[in-house]
Amino acid sequence: MRIAIDIDSTIHHYWDVLSEISLRRFGVELPYEEQLTWGITRLRPEQLRICMQESHSDEMILHGRPYPHVVETVRGWHEAGHFVHVTSHRAPDRAQPTERWLQQIGLPFDDLHCSFDKVTRCCELGIDLLIDDSPLNLTSAIERGIAVATILHPWNEELCEVEGIAAGRDWTELASLLAPLIEDGRPVAQPGAPRLGAGAG
Ligand SMILES: [Mg+2]
Repeated sequence: MRIAIDIDSTIHHYWDVLSEISLRRFGVELPYEEQLTWGITRLRPEQLRICMQESHSDEMILHGRPYPHVVETVRGWHEAGHFVHVTSHRAPDRAQPTERWLQQIGLPFDDLHCSFDKVTRCCELGIDLLIDDSPLNLTSAIERGIAVATILHPWNEELCEVEGIAAGRDWTELASLLAPLIEDGRPVAQPGAPRLGAGAG
């Protein structure tokens, strides 16, 4: 299987990094729990651009702390022979520090791509599964017939429910949700199907 994996809010908890910069630079907090949509409206576009640029400085990239179990999970997939494409919504010149960081945390990959158009690259590479938190990327990948999954965040929860997207609260849950697909090629979720755990109470 050919697997693409996003970085920010997928491999590491990016939100706190962005919120800390926003608070320090502009005095604007970005509460995680209140980020229910993809748009960040508390900052003006120029402020957001500055915050995102700082969040992707060499220093910030190299200080990223991966989510628990992500490295072990991806390493297991890679050792089992699956192709791992790491893809990030970062400027192309951010690829070098990003590669250093991936090596530093020990996350194996076959291909790394930093650009603002991930799904096109996924299509070029014949990706079967994209793991990404962005509702825009999830929707675009579904439209192109790519299976999708995500770490659950306030901004993608509604889409995951509506589309029946495999969504884990952490990498342990995500890995077990994806096991049937990655190990046996069986689908993990169908559009419209309830998410695992939904409707239990
Ligand atoms: Mg992301």
